[in-house]
Amino acid sequence: SSSEAHSHQSVDMATHSPQPTSKKVCIVGAGMAGLAAVRELRREGHAVTVLEQSHDVGGQWLYDPRTDDADPLGAAAPVRVHSSMYDSLRLMSPREAMGFSDFPFASRDGAGAGCDPRRFPGHREVYCYLKDFCDAFGLVDAIRLNTRAVRIALAPPCDVGSSLRWQVRAVQVEPESNKEVSYTEEVFDAVVVATGHYSQPKLPSIDGMEQWRRTQLHSHSYRTPGPFCGETVVVVGCGESGTDIAVELTGVAREVHLAARSMEVVSPGLSKAIARHDNLHLHLGVERLREDGAVVFADGSSAVADTVIYCTGYSYSFPFLETEGRVTVDDNRVDPLFEHVFPASPLAPSLSFVGIPIRVIAPWFFEGQARWVARVLSGRSELPTEAEMVRSVEAQRRAREAAGVPNKLAHDICGVEPHVSACMITALSVNNPSIDLNYKMGYIFARSST
Ligand SMILES: Cc1cc2nc3c(=O)[nH]c(=O)nc-3n(C[C@H](O)[C@H](O)[C@H](O)COP(=O)(O)OP(=O)(O)OC[C@H]3O[C@@H](n4cnc5c(N)ncnc54)[C@H](O)[C@@H]3O)c2cc1C
Repeated sequence: SSSEAHSHQSVDMATHSPQPTSKKVCIVGAGMAGLAAVRELRREGHAVTVLEQSHDVGGQWLYDPRTDDADPLGAAAPVRVHSSMYDSLRLMSPREAMGFSDFPFASRDGAGAGCDPRRFPGHREVYCYLKDFCDAFGLVDAIRLNTRAVRIALAPPCDVGSSLRWQVRAVQVEPESNKEVSYTEEVFDAVVVATGHYSQPKLPSIDGMEQWRRTQLHSHSYRTPGPFCGETVVVVGCGESGTDIAVELTGVAREVHLAARSMEVVSPGLSKAIARHDNLHLHLGVERLREDGAVVFADGSSAVADTVIYCTGYSYSFPFLETEGRVTVDDNRVDPLFEHVFPASPLAPSLSFVGIPIRVIAPWFFEGQARWVARVLSGRSELPTEAEMVRSVEAQRRAREAAGVPNKLAHDICGVEPHVSACMITALSVNNPSIDLNYKMGYIFARSST
């Protein structure tokens, strides 16, 4: 809120930091990352507009019972339904590890019907927490709901040598039909992309997939087990979603076959579930889908299936962003990003990304990233030179290659970059010892939970 911004500025003046400069900033997305960003940017005194395509805030946590029926595999980008949450989803991490640094995710005992006081609550509880966060910090007036960013590109410069600015084209979306109605164009000093990366399905390439005439879908389009009652279902991939969905289906399906990439990815919890459910069978990979309905596994066994559900993860996708090739996505690496936030190019700091890393403790981590962006934009923190950022990105790439980390895990910073964001931490710790501590705690927690 503006009063918070003022109190922050007076602290800075008392400690003789330079007067922060206010920028006109567009944040795309009002999920956890976008909400972290709007609060931090406003606190720093920026004028912020958030574009959110959905009818409400929350991002993934805004459960949507609809699915994209015409494209259940989500093969065509961009998908139209954003949230990939299934109805039964519960938090993987305990609620005390999942709150903003100064706004604990406490249980809402007594908040009436619909509250879920469990330590690992369901998705709706996270959505309610994010709504409470918006109310507590007066963020709602910055957010334009039902507004999708469809094109973001550099605006023509006003004068020779003037700073970069961004032309943002947004479209009004009709909530029920998802139809795009009217366009607006606006110019901003900076854009923060906070659109998440658990919506655009990543599909494997399996022999016979194209010809298979039975039901195939991605976990993005899975909501409840009901439609699979009495079926034989093959679930491909046994990460968190694959395991959850397979176990849930054992309650209604005739048989569930779970195909794991390797036995190393089978968690102790999954082994126990297999022992408990007679109709749950584990296989090593899928080799091909046959036209007669059989799914052939890598171990040579097969099952005639009604449905195949691909729980094979998601891809980064920014269909609205035009950077003339200066930011690219290759096998899930968004490139070249300095500390996973700023393009290592003249586009920094006017373009930034909040929420790119995986396996971090959200929203602490996003809050730290957002505060860094806010400070760099206001001029209270400085980025290294472009050459230094490029060198840093290259050094990280080489270190990862040497450690055998595949490109698709380029933004998995958990346990891979113990030195991560030294620059970010330095920027944040000025006047903010608590965020520094929280950031590190979040990071340590993430590392220790693997
Ligand atoms: C099934 C599932 C389970 C998960 N479980 C956990 C868990 O237990 N713990 C955990 O920490 N994390 C979990 N996650 C990850 C979770 O998504 C992140 O923690 C967090 O919600 C990411 O926030 P975000 O703001 O980056 O992205 P999102 O929540 O995806 O929000 C992005 C927002 O951007 C909007 N948007 C996208 N494109 C546009 C556009 N062009 N114009 C305007 N708006 C746009 C979207 O509508 C959305 O509101 C899970 C994810 C999934 C899919």
